[in-house]
Amino acid sequence: MSLFDFTKGKKQVRGIRRRTLKMILEAGRSSLPNEFGAILRAEGEVIDQLWLIPGTESSDSAALFRLHMLPIDFHVVGTVHSHPSGGCWPSGADVELFRRFGYVHIIVCDPFDHDSWACYDGIGEKRDLEVVD
Ligand code: ZN
Repeated sequence: MSLFDFTKGKKQVRGIRRRTLKMILEAGRSSLPNEFGAILRAEGEVIDQLWLIPGTESSDSAALFRLHMLPIDFHVVGTVHSHPSGGCWPSGADVELFRRFGYVHIIVCDPFDHDSWACYDGIGEKRDLEVVD
């Protein structure tokens, strides 16, 4: 069972603001060697805001999202986290998290340049996400 009904008031997210993506990649880089995690919020069809999650030292991204502590609203669409050791594909624990929470998930990975990210849907399948100025 989902912790939150993401279908209520759901709009299809089509993109992410360039500055928001840049912020995510910078946070991933500056968090090294630790993992970075945040909640993604969208205004309309475009992700434009991050909510940082406290206590992201864990290398286990599933444990990283303390879902019961999160302030949830209808602008929340999913999660972002980093893979400090590289590789932007989701782990088994990541897919578990994606299934439970939201429908747009970004993974950023070392070396955190403009190509070092990938986007997944609520079942862990890769999906497109447009970078919007
Ligand atoms: Zn992960």
